[in-house]
Amino acid sequence: MGCASALELAKRGYSVLVAERAHAPGTETTAKSGAIIRAHYGVPELVQMALEANKRFQRFGELFGGDAGWTPCGYAVLVDQNDVSTLKLNIEMHQQLGVEVELLAPDAFGRMAPGVRTNDVALVAWEPNGGYASPAQTVRSFAEGATQHGVQFVFGVPVVGAKKEGEGWQVELGDGTQVSCGQVVICTGNWSRGVGELFGLHLPVRPMRAQIVVVERPASFRGMFPVVSDLINLAYFRADGEGGMWVGSSDSADLQDFQAVPVRHGAVEYDPEADARAISDAKSKAALRFEGVDALDKGGVQRAFCGLYETTPDWQPIIDSLDSVHVAVGFSGHGFKLATVMGEEMACRVEGADSPFPTGIFDLARFDEGRPIASKWKYERAKFLR
Ligand SMILES: Cc1cc2nc3c(=O)[nH]c(=O)nc-3n(C[C@H](O)[C@H](O)[C@H](O)COP(=O)(O)OP(=O)(O)OC[C@H]3O[C@@H](n4cnc5c(N)ncnc54)[C@H](O)[C@@H]3O)c2cc1C
Repeated sequence: MGCASALELAKRGYSVLVAERAHAPGTETTAKSGAIIRAHYGVPELVQMALEANKRFQRFGELFGGDAGWTPCGYAVLVDQNDVSTLKLNIEMHQQLGVEVELLAPDAFGRMAPGVRTNDVALVAWEPNGGYASPAQTVRSFAEGATQHGVQFVFGVPVVGAKKEGEGWQVELGDGTQVSCGQVVICTGNWSRGVGELFGLHLPVRPMRAQIVVVERPASFRGMFPVVSDLINLAYFRADGEGGMWVGSSDSADLQDFQAVPVRHGAVEYDPEADARAISDAKSKAALRFEGVDALDKGGVQRAFCGLYETTPDWQPIIDSLDSVHVAVGFSGHGFKLATVMGEEMACRVEGADSPFPTGIFDLARFDEGRPIASKWKYERAKFLR
């Protein structure tokens, strides 16, 4: 988010300094991201932004320079009888908003994606323009573009203080440097609660562990296959390299199992390893959905790790501008795809121009004013996670 915003601001002629606590850009949550790009959401404003973001990934080199590792393999949502009406209502809304998406009978999808078991599936939503990208390539492209446009990066130095200075802010960095800023953009992901406080903002962002397991694909099932969101077994799958399959959970019940995350001086500590149960669940779910995957295989796991979802109370982002501070945080597990639109959104806000995207509903005050955002139609099991 930070590199995309810096690039768009620099293109508009602003002098931009990026202060990054880590020693390189994109090494925190973005590095752990599934980087799946789809428009299937239950909140129309998010659908609109995700659709525009998807279009921009398709033209990434032309718009931003460089390569995002965009893989246009399509995106499928699989439901059983319990969720057929919800899927139909969501797809009708998506089509009205211009998303290219169709409903397929399980057999028809099975022919498109051989090796995917569809015996328990009642209906499939097929988004042919969905897919996934490479977080590392995307960040590198934004960062290189930003550097070429004159952005100055300071690595290994956190923002540790802020004081109002006229209309702008005097920002203190960890090495004691004071920087006068006309305007500030906060895009500090899971660390935003502490960073927001420096600027007098209460940003209710709570880190939550998300466990990912990359299982081996059988030799008969190599190459590209669509991203599959399995709302029956509550898992999502995508190809990972030539022979791997990324398995993530869409089960809200798993949230109870996430470990508490201590937050100290704005820092977050968490166990980056996935646990045995997550690994066994991932293998079982993959075996239920894909032919040739053996849940009982003692090996079969290429890697397993945890990332942190930067969640807000309603699992929707905070996009707002308050007192020369512009905020893009709390993307709650769907922020990677939005970077291609959030850069422009932040640049427009700094410029004082009208936002090109329907971001008004993502204001910070909604939490205090009792206006949480919710999908109109909820899937039976996946609930707010979809
Ligand atoms: C397991 C997992 C899977 C995901 N899958 C998807 C997906 O398929 N599709 C999708 O769209 N999204 C997905 N997401 C969500 C997505 O990855 C995030 O929403 C997105 O990466 C957030 O980007 P960011 O730039 O806001 O945050 P980050 O990448 O975390 O960047 C924030 C930066 O702020 C820096 N920072 C923090 N504090 C300070 C400070 N005081 N001073 C200076 N710098 C500071 C950090 O070092 C960090 O580099 C997933 C997330 C996880 C965890």
